Amino acid sequence: MNIILLGPPGAGKGTQARHLVEERGMVQLSTGDMLREAKDSGTEMGEVVADVMARGALVTDEIVIGLIREKLETVKANGFIFDGFPRTLAQADALGELLEGEGQTLDKVVEMRVDDEALVARIVARSTCGMCGEVYNDNTKPIPADGKCTNCGGSDFKRRADDNEESLKTRLMEYYKQTSPLIGYYYAKGMLSRVDGLGAIDAVQSEIKAVLDA
Ligand code: AMP
Repeated sequence: MNIILLGPPGAGKGTQARHLVEERGMVQLSTGDMLREAKDSGTEMGEVVADVMARGALVTDEIVIGLIREKLETVKANGFIFDGFPRTLAQADALGELLEGEGQTLDKVVEMRVDDEALVARIVARSTCGMCGEVYNDNTKPIPADGKCTNCGGSDFKRRADDNEESLKTRLMEYYKQTSPLIGYYYAKGMLSRVDGLGAIDAVQSEIKAVLDA
């Protein structure tokens, strides 16, 4: 089963995707993670995208579609979770074509709904483990007092450079202008399900499970 987790920045897509990877052996394809990797390893493409990402703007369709194409051609998986992709209608069309080319289908699109004030509060409180990517939140899931990641024991935690109010404004605007039309797009294709992304992590997990098993 191939699915998209759709929602604004801070909706919890990455956290839920990681859970599905553990529970179901699916493969998470996060274009944000791929772009950060390219940036950190200093590739030519990484240099091109660094400034765009820091501002919170969208990287070109050509670049992100290329990243996804490469993964779909090379990775064999028992289901993909698209996390942070597609973000534009052109990307959504391209994903449909790429999957078809691989003899695969897109099965479900799960929209994670969260109100905007909660998003801002979540994002400015967010940090991740530098070793395994486990996500923490200063208010709801703080880094343990012993300073060690509960998942892998690592002790190096990072805040994303674009998790600040200024770039968040741009990221939210991009979401509403470019990505939110995908809700109607997938609704019209009969693929859309909605979950309440504001609940506790476990509660959201159960809602997603119910959608996938329906
Ligand atoms: P994310 O980790 O999904 O929040 O993505 C971080 C940043 O990477 C975004 O703010 C964009 O600058 C860029 N990005 C990630 N995925 C895409 C995409 N599908 N299309 C365009 N830009 C993207």
